[in-house]
Amino acid sequence: MSIHHSIIELELTHPFKISRRATDFFRQAITVEIDGGIGAASPTRFYGETIETVQHAFDSFTPIIDQAEDLDAIQSIMSEVDETLSGNYAAKSAIDLALHDRLAKRLGIPLFKLWGVDPNQALDTSFTIGLDEPEIMQQKVIQASDFPILKVKLGTDRDLEIIGAIREVTDKPIYVDANTAWSPKEAVSKIRQLEPFKIALIEQPTKAEDLLGLKFIREHSNLPIFADESVNRSNGIPRLAGVVDGINIKLSKCGGLLEAIRMIHVARSHNLQIMIGCMIESSISITAAAHLTPLVDYADLDGHLLVSNDPYNGVTLDQGKLVLPDQPGIGVMKRHD
Ligand code: MG
Repeated sequence: MSIHHSIIELELTHPFKISRRATDFFRQAITVEIDGGIGAASPTRFYGETIETVQHAFDSFTPIIDQAEDLDAIQSIMSEVDETLSGNYAAKSAIDLALHDRLAKRLGIPLFKLWGVDPNQALDTSFTIGLDEPEIMQQKVIQASDFPILKVKLGTDRDLEIIGAIREVTDKPIYVDANTAWSPKEAVSKIRQLEPFKIALIEQPTKAEDLLGLKFIREHSNLPIFADESVNRSNGIPRLAGVVDGINIKLSKCGGLLEAIRMIHVARSHNLQIMIGCMIESSISITAAAHLTPLVDYADLDGHLLVSNDPYNGVTLDQGKLVLPDQPGIGVMKRHD
């Protein structure tokens, strides 16, 4: 059995911008197939991955898949995959997803049943408003009327103006994501000014490695503080206890569903809240992540909605609530429109 993969060009519905990056107009992803199981990777340079590194990682993983006696033994295969290369978590996640999709299809059950999860407890997803002129962000909020929760990207010198403009047109809960842009002192002052605007939580206000800064911000503000760039895998969670209120888990940061489940358990044992997030990616990865939402507190799984040419159908939305597919496996089908 081997790994078959192909590159997909995801075109973005709107140009997308966050605090540390230039505007994106499209994003490359890779789909992977192992013995009928489908996975996908959406590499990002921030985490050291590109399409080329993913392809190279797949070459390194191929002998493990080729020689595996039992592809159902996902735990042992993923341990080998992990030991073969450090990092490369988007690539590893694609392999993990394909193996889970294959196993659940063979068992004839939807993915969520592998974990004994109640699909009715899937969550509402937030919808992300990328950085732009305040008036344009206000327009994007008006267009996002189907979504009960918004995630607003900040990290500019017009942050308060942006939130003020958005609050003129909606009273929905807002998660703010600064993507590491603020200094700790600046964050404390901004968060105080943001408080009257009914913000539900603040994600990654300051630099990824600055845990003392995160702790300082948490101790000097009244809003829940979440770590995203500061936490990739389960072994990075214990040091965040008492530093933040919650963490954002993403499949392409942690290396797949096995590790995401491990992170959920470790976070719970450290009294941390949990968000499941995503990159800009196709319905394959988003649907896989959606199967985990009954186990967590917040879902930010809108990456496929920012894409105009998603090649797959999978999880659907009912007024912003994620509706898990009940077909065997992850539950994605290639689009034929
Ligand atoms: Mg984030």
